[in-house]
Amino acid sequence: MTPFLKRNLLIPVSVLLFLGLIIGLIKLVPELGSRVEHLEFIVISIMVSLSVVIMLFWICLGVFAGLSSFLVAMIFLYGPLTALNPYYYSVLILAFFISSFLGHFYGRKINKANQGYTIRMEKLREDVNLIQEHCSRRKAEVKAMGEKINALLKLKGVADSLSLALSEDDIVKTVSRKTYDIFGTEVRVGIYMTDRKSKELDLSFAVKGERRSPMIMKKGGVFDRWAVKNMKSLLVKDASKDFRFAVGEEERKDDFVSLMIKPLILENNFLGIIRVDSPEAETFGQYELRLLDFIGDLTAVALDNAHLYQRTMELAIRDSLTGLFVYRYFMERLEEEVKRALRNDDTFALLMLDIDSFKDFNDEHGHVWGDAVLKNISRILEKRASAGDMVARYGGEEFVLLSLKSDREKASAMAEEIRKEIANSPIVMRRKKYRVTVSVGVAVFPGDARLREDIVAEADRRLYRAKAEGKNKVCSK
Ligand code: GH3
Ligand code: MG
Ligand code: MG
Repeated sequence: MTPFLKRNLLIPVSVLLFLGLIIGLIKLVPELGSRVEHLEFIVISIMVSLSVVIMLFWICLGVFAGLSSFLVAMIFLYGPLTALNPYYYSVLILAFFISSFLGHFYGRKINKANQGYTIRMEKLREDVNLIQEHCSRRKAEVKAMGEKINALLKLKGVADSLSLALSEDDIVKTVSRKTYDIFGTEVRVGIYMTDRKSKELDLSFAVKGERRSPMIMKKGGVFDRWAVKNMKSLLVKDASKDFRFAVGEEERKDDFVSLMIKPLILENNFLGIIRVDSPEAETFGQYELRLLDFIGDLTAVALDNAHLYQRTMELAIRDSLTGLFVYRYFMERLEEEVKRALRNDDTFALLMLDIDSFKDFNDEHGHVWGDAVLKNISRILEKRASAGDMVARYGGEEFVLLSLKSDREKASAMAEEIRKEIANSPIVMRRKKYRVTVSVGVAVFPGDARLREDIVAEADRRLYRAKAEGKNKVCSK
C-alpha cells in the first residue's frame, strides 16, 4: 500500500498512458512522416513521457512491472524507431535505463518509507486499541464506583431513617422499604421477627414489586429456618438447583427463584431475619449479600435501641411496686382523653379508690404485707379495666381508673363490682385471711366536669364522702 500515490487510480492511468504512448509512437510517427515540422520534438517528448511512465511502474509496481514495461517498450518500438532514425532507439534505451534506475532506486526508498509508515501505523493502532480498552475499563470502573456510591448513599439513608425510628414497627417498615429501594423493583423484601415465647418466625412486614405475588410462607420456609438454625447469612442463586434444601410443596409454589437472608442478631440475641428474593436466578451475588449484611446489622442495632427505649419509657411511666402507670403519666393521658372526648362528643368516667384504714393494716402487719395488698388490688383493677382503659397509682394507697366511653350508670356498676371483689379477696397471711376494703369516688365527663382538674377534684370529693359515710362504699353522685 502506498499512501503517497493512489495506486488504484495510478495503475490503470499509467498502463493506459503507457499503451497510448507506444501505440502513438508505432502508429502516429510513421504516418506523420515528413509532414510534421518538429517531428523530432514530438518523438522525444513521447520517449520522455514513456520513460516517466516506466519509472512510475518501477516505483509503484516493483521490479517485475518495471522490467516488463521496459522490455515491451523496447521490443515494440525497435521497428518504428529504427525506421525513423536509429539514433532515436539508442537514446530511448539510454533514457529507459536511466528511468529504470531512478524508478528502482526511488521505488525501494518509498517502499522502505512505506514499511516504516505501516509499522508506525500498526503501533499507533495498537496504542489506540490499548487506550480504548483502558477507557472502557475505566468507564466500567467509574460505573461500578457510581453504583457503589449510590448503594452506600442508600445505606446512609437507611441509617439516617433508622436513627429516627424508635419503635419496632417503624423500624421494620422503614428497613423493608429502604431495602426494596436498594435491590430494585423486581424483588420482594420481608422481615420476619421471632416470637418471644414460641421462638417461631412470623412475617412482620413485606414490600414487593408490582408484578410479584405476596409471600405465602408467613412463618418462613426451609431457607429461613436454615438461617435461623445456623445463625448465618444465606445466599441461594437458584433454589431449584440447590440440593442443600428439601423445599416443600407449598414453598415450591412461592414466587421466587433466588434469595438471600440475613439474620438479625445482637449479642447472641436472635431477633429475626431479613429476606430478599427474586423471580430470576442469579439475581444476587456476594456484593448484594454484603449490602444486606450491613442493612441487617444496622437493623439489629436499631431494634435493640428501640427495645431499650421502650423499656426506659416503661420504667419512666410505670410504678415499680405495682406496675401501674404513675401519677404524672396518668394526668397527661387524662388531659388527652378530655380533648379527645370533647372532639368526639364522648363520655368517660374516673374512678378514684382509697384503701380503708390502711395505716392500721400497715401498723398491724408491717409494710411488706401492706405492699402485697397494694399489688393485689392493682391486679384486680387491671383485670376489671377494659381495653383502652387506664389504671394508675395516684398516690401511696390511692388508685385511679379511667373508664372510656362510660356513663354514670356503667361506671357506678363497675366501681361496685371492684369494691366487692376487693372486699372478697382476702390476703392470706400465716394461714389467716385478712380483708381490706376500699372506698370509691366516681366522676363522669362531661356530666360532672369538663376540665381535667375539676374531674379529679370531683372524684376525690366523692371518695371522701364515701369515707365519711362509713367506708367500703361507692359514691357516684
Ligand atoms: P383512710 O381509711 O381514711 O384512708 O385511712 P388510712 O389509714 O388509709 O389513711 P392515711 O392516709 O392516714 O394512711 C395511708 C397509709 O398508707 C399510710 C402509709 O403507711 C400507707 N402507705 C402509703 N404508701 C404505702 C406503700 O407504698 N406501702 C405500704 N405498705 N403502705 C403505704
Ligand atoms: Mg389515702
Ligand atoms: Mg386510706
